[in-house]
Amino acid sequence: MENVFTWVFLGALGAATATRLWLAQRQIRHVRAHREAVPGMFADSIPLAAHQKAADYTVAKARLGIVDTLLDAVILLALTLGGGLQWLSDLWQAVFAVDSIWHGAALILSLLLIRGALGLPLSLYRIFVIEERFGFNRMTWKLFVIDLAKGLAVGAVLGVPLLLAVLWLMLAAGTFWWLYAWVVLIVYSLFLQMIYPAVVMPLFNKFSRLEDAALAGRIEQLLSRTGFRSRGLYVMDGSKRSSHGNAFFAGFGGAKRIVLFDTLVSRLQPAEVEAVLAHELGHYKLRHIVKGMALSWGFSFALLLALGLLAGEPWFYEGLGMQTATLPIALALFMLVVPEFTFFAQPLLSLFSRRNEYEADRYAAANADAAELVRALVKLYHDNSATLTPDPLHSAYYDSHPPAAMRIARLRTA
Ligand SMILES: [Zn+2]
Repeated sequence: MENVFTWVFLGALGAATATRLWLAQRQIRHVRAHREAVPGMFADSIPLAAHQKAADYTVAKARLGIVDTLLDAVILLALTLGGGLQWLSDLWQAVFAVDSIWHGAALILSLLLIRGALGLPLSLYRIFVIEERFGFNRMTWKLFVIDLAKGLAVGAVLGVPLLLAVLWLMLAAGTFWWLYAWVVLIVYSLFLQMIYPAVVMPLFNKFSRLEDAALAGRIEQLLSRTGFRSRGLYVMDGSKRSSHGNAFFAGFGGAKRIVLFDTLVSRLQPAEVEAVLAHELGHYKLRHIVKGMALSWGFSFALLLALGLLAGEPWFYEGLGMQTATLPIALALFMLVVPEFTFFAQPLLSLFSRRNEYEADRYAAANADAAELVRALVKLYHDNSATLTPDPLHSAYYDSHPPAAMRIARLRTA
């Protein structure tokens, strides 16, 4: 059964898993080695106890990441070479014709549910043990169950039609199904961006108008200074689930809603909120959001092209432990194994993202007060127990944001 592709897959899985474990080990060792002293530039703003808490929190998350990596590898092997997906396919074949859209839909949906269920214990551990132990968790069991039910319902309503459309194209549209599927995917993602803030997010959170007149005034000034049209300033009750803070824009096209987490508004001074928002505006004004979207479209084009080519090759199915070969099965296999290959593109994506962060910081420094942004960042690092001393390689590989010390050093010279 096994062929050359089996070994290519095992090689990628082995290399990706080994790299993940190696980076996690490095992160744990580096953070622990720097646990006993606050780095010089933060010495007067972050107490030693907070620094040590951040180190312990980072180590706890990295340890959970190791368990997650090992579990994922075992599940992936069980589903592919272990025959799990073949077993699932046989099971559905008793109900639906194997070359029908329904067999494909049942197979992929049950696969997603099984993987979700297997990942549940780790999510629960992360929220109710780790986040709880470090005092970040505000999620209750009841809210968790409600979120899960809502998430499944939203996933079904929004995801199933897309899946059926893609499966239909696979089975009916001929050689270039993958190209049509790509177009459908793009149109659908634009549609989702349009309805998400208005339809989906209110299912999970409450949005209220920003009441603080002084803060609203400052923000309005920033917006008119930078020529940004907003469709209102809102506060979101992020504190319902977690005490981590954030700010973002929601919406599509010219005018957007500006949303601040309640945790951000309550912890930061108005001038600091303004600086954080100026950074977010920077992302928008410097077209990072559009560039990121174009990048992900290019990425999905390449992936769908690869799937279109692989799906026609018997060795692709055989090499991954399948005796049954249909295009929907190729999609299921592809979804399972592709992260082991794209993992090696992660450092490039992280680099792209970190460059954008520096640019947005420069924009914030030009349009608000750089010193206020530094103060806000220090508070956010402190409040979120984000480590100030990440392992440089781990950070270069994964981090979407540059390490605090490097960001602040650049802001101080801006
Ligand atoms: Zn940013």
